[in-house]
Amino acid sequence: MSAELHPQDAAAAALVTPDSGAHWAQRYSAALMDTFGAPQRVLVRGEGAYVWDADGNRYLDLLAGIAVNALGHAHPTLTAAISAQLGTLGHVSNFFATPTQVALAERLLALAEAPEGSRVFFANSGTEANEALMKMARRTGRPRVLALEGSFHGRTMGALALTHKAAYREPFEPLPSGVEFLPFGDTDALEAAFADGGADIAALVLEPIQGEAGVRPLPPGYLALARKLTAEAGALLALDEVQTGMGRTGAWLAHQHPHLGGGIRPDVVTLAKGLGGGFPMGAIIAYGEHAATLLGRGQHGTTFGGNPVAAAAGLTTIGVIERDGLLAHTRELGETWRADISALGHPLVAGVRGEGLLIAVELTAPVAAQVAARALEAGLIVNPCTPTTLRLAPPLILTAEQAGQFTAFLAGLPHDLAPEA
Ligand SMILES: *Cc1c(COP(=O)(O)O)cnc(C)c1O
Repeated sequence: MSAELHPQDAAAAALVTPDSGAHWAQRYSAALMDTFGAPQRVLVRGEGAYVWDADGNRYLDLLAGIAVNALGHAHPTLTAAISAQLGTLGHVSNFFATPTQVALAERLLALAEAPEGSRVFFANSGTEANEALMKMARRTGRPRVLALEGSFHGRTMGALALTHKAAYREPFEPLPSGVEFLPFGDTDALEAAFADGGADIAALVLEPIQGEAGVRPLPPGYLALARKLTAEAGALLALDEVQTGMGRTGAWLAHQHPHLGGGIRPDVVTLAKGLGGGFPMGAIIAYGEHAATLLGRGQHGTTFGGNPVAAAAGLTTIGVIERDGLLAHTRELGETWRADISALGHPLVAGVRGEGLLIAVELTAPVAAQVAARALEAGLIVNPCTPTTLRLAPPLILTAEQAGQFTAFLAGLPHDLAPEA
């Protein structure tokens, strides 16, 4: 099938060589479902905080595969650990245990400061971790599950039932029942939901900082109130730290920041994204005997979850974060970067928020997609997660000099950038 080319397309067609990005993009659209739309670039290689596209252009990756590549790309320690594990024992199923899996579970319980009796279940993604959480909620025998407006918990049916966005939910209804959405960060609404004692509430599911909704932290005191009300009602307090966990905010888990969680202990935490440093994996941490035994023998399962390669990736990622002091680096760099962006006083920047290296630049006009497109042209990958919000979630190994490249880019943006018609 050869289409006639208009003369003005000839120049573009000339760029379509067998290994060019344009060529791969054509093959992508012909071979992959259109669920994600057209890819922005076709990437072939990464190193540290940089990636390269099929045409040889380099980009500073300030999104890190959506808050995933904590150690950047092709980190030598992580690459070596994954390769060594795969060359020793790659997969065994959960009919068998492996030392790496046990060691990672123990590491997670320790960094979560989970009490005696706590347990871990390994999955392969954030969605799957939240699916397990939904099943735990059902096992309480209580019908109601509370989540927040603006929430994102994943795309499988159970996780989707917890996700607020209508465009994601409506094509797939009916979803598992019993989920109710409370207004974001509204303590009165939270009190009202528990006003009758909450004996029929199985769980309250919260992101300490809503990621997909635009890096929105819960207001101070909200998590403490949530803990008090769920404890009184005998309901589970479940924190989705898929995006905020594993050092992203400069603490192992976001709720461990005194000003976010105020020292609370949740009943359940779900993890994924940064957990394997880029290797796909998820986990659920159940705190204490009660939560840890809700899913009994035979009540949940997975073929791949907790496989030795994923577990080695998780252990090594944690080890490098610790060895290289990346939690403190993430806190310090995040703070100076946010301050530097604010200090620009650029008329397009309404404000900067976030924690550690999970940052939102709020714009004064709905031009986030345009700004992200200009950034890409300038060699910077950022994410327009709402029409007015740019999200930055770079590798935790980002240097101050690299962060400064984005600040300089913002400074150079035209003051009068207007929404495209
Ligand atoms: C990304 C994300 C998920 C879904 O994780 P997947 O690995 O894409 O399935 C769930 N919850 C939150 C808060 C997320 O950011």
